[in-house]
Amino acid sequence: MLEHELDIRKAKNRYNSYPMLDSKTHMSMIKTRELLADMTNEKRCIYCGASGPFSKEHALPYSLGHFKGFPELPDTVCADCNSRIISITEDQFLHCGPEAFIKEFLGITGRKEHKRINIFERGSAGAPPIDFVGYDSNLGIHILFKFNPSQQTIKEVNKQIVFINKKGECFPFRVPDWIKDNKQFLTYVREEIKIPKGNYDARFFGDDTFLLRMERLLSGLGKNFTILEPPPEVNIKNPKTTCRVTDRYFRAIAKIAFHYFLTVVDLCRGDEDVFRPIRDFIINGGVVEEFVKQKTEKTIEPELPHWWTHIIKMDCGYGGIFIYLQFFINSQDNPFKDMLKYKFMVRLSRNHVTPGLISRKCHHFAYYQPIQKIDGYYGEVVESEFKD
Ligand SMILES: [Zn+2]
Repeated sequence: MLEHELDIRKAKNRYNSYPMLDSKTHMSMIKTRELLADMTNEKRCIYCGASGPFSKEHALPYSLGHFKGFPELPDTVCADCNSRIISITEDQFLHCGPEAFIKEFLGITGRKEHKRINIFERGSAGAPPIDFVGYDSNLGIHILFKFNPSQQTIKEVNKQIVFINKKGECFPFRVPDWIKDNKQFLTYVREEIKIPKGNYDARFFGDDTFLLRMERLLSGLGKNFTILEPPPEVNIKNPKTTCRVTDRYFRAIAKIAFHYFLTVVDLCRGDEDVFRPIRDFIINGGVVEEFVKQKTEKTIEPELPHWWTHIIKMDCGYGGIFIYLQFFINSQDNPFKDMLKYKFMVRLSRNHVTPGLISRKCHHFAYYQPIQKIDGYYGEVVESEFKD
């Protein structure tokens, strides 16, 4: 193991990683490929070994906004792996976690060609939509809300029902399009949403087609549900947000950390043997705690930036390579403080590294104030001193 690590300088441009291939044929194929790569000094995708085409890779996903002053990673990830990583991990990170909520709140949009998903109505890459529940003081009930960024308002989530029991407890939920009859509806309500048996009033939020559909779905269910009139305008108080994510969310964070490291440390290409476990985790998953830890006890830096900023820093030492990340930091008092308390620590390697690699780095990805796009950029990257 150590030999490999000490060899990192020499191995820089060498394709020496072949995850997921172990049969004899594959091995000999790879040997040839490796020889070829050595002879031609050809660049290979660090994940699959393909010789291209490569995609432009940004350590920080483009959808969080493009930042000036941080280079791309050239000839590192092939287009296939890039779209695979995006579709299985980054999509969830960008649509289902707390960062997605803040991104939406600030109205940050990614590349134009990316289809916009309403994060409050649709889940992504295996995780459900974000629940943003607020108390409507006009109606006296809790409702699922969504942002309406173009008008900077808040609106009820479409195709939603709220069940209210006699004690006034509310169960707001989205009604999926696949539910066609009473039986499916009842099973969904009991097993998926886990609403206890009992008598409920029901409120609907949706267009006329949805209301008709709901009346039909509920009509067969006897006296258990009383349908109330559609509500007047809403007035929200004390919203509460719930994000549910899977390991894909953490794999996206591991990817950001790994690619950040590869961008700031040019001694490594990323295909070195020492990074085999982290590459495998990003692409195939695994035990999250072995690679990514979520901490809340303290923030990433003693002094927080005044305006919205992402901070990524690297501590590369004899104990291994660690990357610390915290997204959307803002020292001002804001209603989302609780959502923004998470700091991530990603371990890229457990082993100690070659002396040439020992270093510490810290970068601030700071948004322009106010949030706006200038010449295609949402902000700038500033290297700063690593502070404990
Ligand atoms: Zn690839």
